Amino acid sequence: MIENTLSMAALEDAHSSGTYVKRDITIVRGEGATLYDDAGRAYIDCVGGQGAANLGHGHPAVLAAIRQQSETLMLCPELFHNPVRAQYQAALAAAAGAHFERVFLCNSGAEANEAALKIARLVTGRKGIVSTMRGFHGRTMGALSTTWEKTYREPFEPLVSGVTFVPYNNIERLTAALTPDTAAVIVEAVQGEGGVHPAQAGYLAAVQAACRANGTLLIMDEVQTGFGRTGQLFAHHADGVQPDLLCLAKSIAGGLPMGAVVMAGALGPLPPASHGTTFGGNPLACAAALATLDVLTATDLVPRALALGEAARDRLRAGLHENAYREVRGRGLLIGIELRAKVAPVLRALQERGVLALPAGATVLRLLPPLVMEEQDLLTAIDTVVEVLNHAAS
Ligand SMILES: *Cc1c(COP(=O)(O)O)cnc(C)c1O
Repeated sequence: MIENTLSMAALEDAHSSGTYVKRDITIVRGEGATLYDDAGRAYIDCVGGQGAANLGHGHPAVLAAIRQQSETLMLCPELFHNPVRAQYQAALAAAAGAHFERVFLCNSGAEANEAALKIARLVTGRKGIVSTMRGFHGRTMGALSTTWEKTYREPFEPLVSGVTFVPYNNIERLTAALTPDTAAVIVEAVQGEGGVHPAQAGYLAAVQAACRANGTLLIMDEVQTGFGRTGQLFAHHADGVQPDLLCLAKSIAGGLPMGAVVMAGALGPLPPASHGTTFGGNPLACAAALATLDVLTATDLVPRALALGEAARDRLRAGLHENAYREVRGRGLLIGIELRAKVAPVLRALQERGVLALPAGATVLRLLPPLVMEEQDLLTAIDTVVEVLNHAAS
């Protein structure tokens, strides 16, 4: 079996695009917050499907919904009505906030941001977009145009024009960047890929006020922070803001690919045929998403994520030697540790000790444990991080 999957790894390396740099293990199975490799070794999963596995692997409620819906109807383009989609759009808008009304469904985070940027231009009749330095919004041409990291952008220029970048957590610079032609500001509640930088208290409320005063729409990119990750169902709920457009994906459908833009009621319906996608709103994804939302709202997983995240950060700060790190940051179970050195060797050392984790840039270690992780597993993962970082610094 090991030989077989070894040759499978070689087969994958021979025929996959090459764009993804892979680690040297083959993952074959997952259960809850545990992943297993081809030799049967268990790993504590702090990659969490890069943020798509808030409910872990194989959540029974999600599996039941997928099984049932796959036997009923998988495809139903939005040429027709469908009851599962109807229920999901209503439930998602209600869960997002009272001022939200409509939902555009798609298939990924980049697609959600792409749609939101198009909607902002359509609704306002303006062209400009303001985004933030270190912000990450996806890899399609439009979303990429609002992504800060230049190694992602430069090979693909010219990108969409009209995008201005301002420093995150700096309201003066953002306000100064708004012009009569600014359609939207796009911003994360916690910059995830950009190094786990949370919005400071009051920042998002000030961004919203500046947008309102300028007739500019506020797009919150909660692709990574949504669905309980930060200890709120949606992170912006803690900031007291009401975005005009809320972009979601990753953990939306319990692991199935899906994206969504939730639209404030004040925007009204979009003009007919102004945007669309074939798989958007397919009943299979909607059923999985409905089950996911039910689990998140009917259990204590979300407030638990808030408490566990705080405890994890306290334990890191208490255990780490001061020369082993620069800063521990995050909200809920979105955890970032800024190191004094490169993160890549740390990720390898963690993997050798049975913990899978992520980078967020070259020097930030990022943990995205499924919200369903047993407390003891999280403590083990945190203690392993402390051990590896202290050892590297000694
Ligand atoms: C992951 C991510 C995206 C892109 O989502 P994809 O599904 O990979 O296209 C966009 N914005 C944020 C904040 C993300 O974390």
